[in-house]
Amino acid sequence: MSNLPLTGSNFASTQALETSELLGNEGVFAEAIDGFQAREAQQEMAAAVADAVIQGGQLLAEAGTGTGKTWAYLVPALLHGEKVIVSTGTKALQDQLFLRDLPRVKKILNSDFDVALLKGRANYLCVHRLDTANDGYDITPVDHAYIHKLKTWSRSTVDGDIASAPKAPDSKNMTGWAHWSKVTSTNENCLGQQCPQWDGCFVSQARQRAMDANLVVVNHYLLLADFALKDEGFGELLPNADTVIVDEAHQLPEIAGKFFGVSTSARQIRNLVDDARREQSELGEQDPLLMRHLTALEKVTADFRLALGDQDVRGVWVQPPDSVKDARNELIGTLGRIKGYLKQIKERSPGIANAYERAGDLLRSLNRLRSTEETSPQLELEEGSEDVHWFETRGRGFALHSTPLDVSKPLAEKVFSLPAAWVFSSATLSVAGDFTHIKQQLGLPEASSLSLQSPFDYANNSLLYLPDGIPERPGDEATEALIERVLPVLEAAKGGAFLLFTSYRALNTAARMLREAHSDRILVQGEQAPRNLVDEFVERGNAWLLATQTFWEGVDVQGQALSVVVIDRLPFASPGDPVTSARIAAMNQTGNAFMDWQLPQAVINLKQGAGRLIRDVSDYGVLVLGDPRLRTKRYGQRFIDSLPPMPQTNDPEEACLFLAQRDQQESQ
Ligand code: SF4
Repeated sequence: MSNLPLTGSNFASTQALETSELLGNEGVFAEAIDGFQAREAQQEMAAAVADAVIQGGQLLAEAGTGTGKTWAYLVPALLHGEKVIVSTGTKALQDQLFLRDLPRVKKILNSDFDVALLKGRANYLCVHRLDTANDGYDITPVDHAYIHKLKTWSRSTVDGDIASAPKAPDSKNMTGWAHWSKVTSTNENCLGQQCPQWDGCFVSQARQRAMDANLVVVNHYLLLADFALKDEGFGELLPNADTVIVDEAHQLPEIAGKFFGVSTSARQIRNLVDDARREQSELGEQDPLLMRHLTALEKVTADFRLALGDQDVRGVWVQPPDSVKDARNELIGTLGRIKGYLKQIKERSPGIANAYERAGDLLRSLNRLRSTEETSPQLELEEGSEDVHWFETRGRGFALHSTPLDVSKPLAEKVFSLPAAWVFSSATLSVAGDFTHIKQQLGLPEASSLSLQSPFDYANNSLLYLPDGIPERPGDEATEALIERVLPVLEAAKGGAFLLFTSYRALNTAARMLREAHSDRILVQGEQAPRNLVDEFVERGNAWLLATQTFWEGVDVQGQALSVVVIDRLPFASPGDPVTSARIAAMNQTGNAFMDWQLPQAVINLKQGAGRLIRDVSDYGVLVLGDPRLRTKRYGQRFIDSLPPMPQTNDPEEACLFLAQRDQQESQ
């Protein structure tokens, strides 16, 4: 395929055009669905995807909100693919696609495609670990009772998906139960074919269903785990696929960074200790020497955490002080001794053999990090290093990471080189129609691209308000100035508002100010689980939800409940983050990190946040961008040009009038 932006005249084969006509006014969808409205952009995307699937190739398809991109890729995938993988950004989107969109599209197309849903292994009950879950020292009588319920459920469930397990006991943990990790598996602790429960294993059954299906729905974490060859079993799926569709593709590069890197954490070490103890108990043996080794490992892990300081921090791993090195060396020494002992006794059971393997992996990873200290990260960067070494601490935990600065090479070499058609779809891939940034990030300079505008009437249904008089420097003064200017607009709206902040400090300042005026309308991120917050926001209909970037994506509120979206500042990645600062330093050695990476990345993030406002053809509202750099800096126009075409004002009264008029029209 060409790398030119695609237009209606240069992409579509006859078959592709016929596919797109199915979504037209005379097509099967119009026949099957009352009130179906054909959308030109949806048909154009369907034709381009069909072309990619039929011919093979790499297509970047940006489709504005309301295009109907899910159907635009499902229709050609079901008609022209043979073995298709669809990857979505989150588990919630996976469920939505599998349970809602796929059955509908399949029925209308009368397709006999066999479809399957595959989640990460942590979503399936591990019947082997369930057997020994009662042995944990921190298991309460309430947990015992719940484990008993799970055992009963495990005999009747078809797929072992814990989303359909009996309701978990009340717990401080937001996900309902603090011990899911005791009854699910990880790649590290799974015994694979050595497992005594292999025949009834839900994970292997889910994978087998995925292998047999024509179309499998996965998420990016699972897809990338396979790419990075970090999870066995799924690896056979990708090489057989003839079509891979990556939805929410703008998220892929960041998630890839996690999978192509290496991490060692306190959690991994503590899980190893727990599992080895459980295995002892399961075997009904007492091995005092093993117990002593495990206790020693727990102690040196805690000592290493203490040596890293009592704060929660993230930082580059540069020549740590002697006290940290000593504690780390103690940890390595103890792990080495335990590994040696486990080697002697590994024949006792597959569980002990697994613990021996894991001790070896942890040891290798820690030794690798130690070897990098010979050279500081800064020096390594000058020599063209491709990884940044960094650490983070939180509570009792720590993690040591080695993260690639540029994932485009491994993605292009290990992933996109597979002989399949690749379709990358999202509402936010380009910067004002320019795909250079995402192509660089994915390592796909030759991919075709297609940009389709949202069919929504932004010119009449939205207004961009850029308030005057806000200080350029971030801080309380800027937040206070923004809230003063935005409050009349919030009050003028009958419906609710999202106020999205780039820092917790700004969020807290704004929450304090708004609480003084309207405590009854305020909802603040962190005060409830995110899903509950959104539900309450929709239910109330006129609430003001204050949040950080967690709410910039994937939150879909239609109608008047969301009439105003406020974004405090342009969302540039924080240079205080160790990976960001290392990436900036590396990119500045050969180019301009700001123009080539920070700016386009911030544009794409802003488009995501702004995209929360208009979610339906009848939605209307005001977008408030509180960052004066939009007008004082030359690059500001790049952000404006990348947003849908909205009229602009810097007059709050005009914004209030717009809302009052539209609310009035709506109520007539
Ligand atoms: S094979 Fe792995 S996931 Fe399956 S039951 Fe055994 S340990 Fe659990």
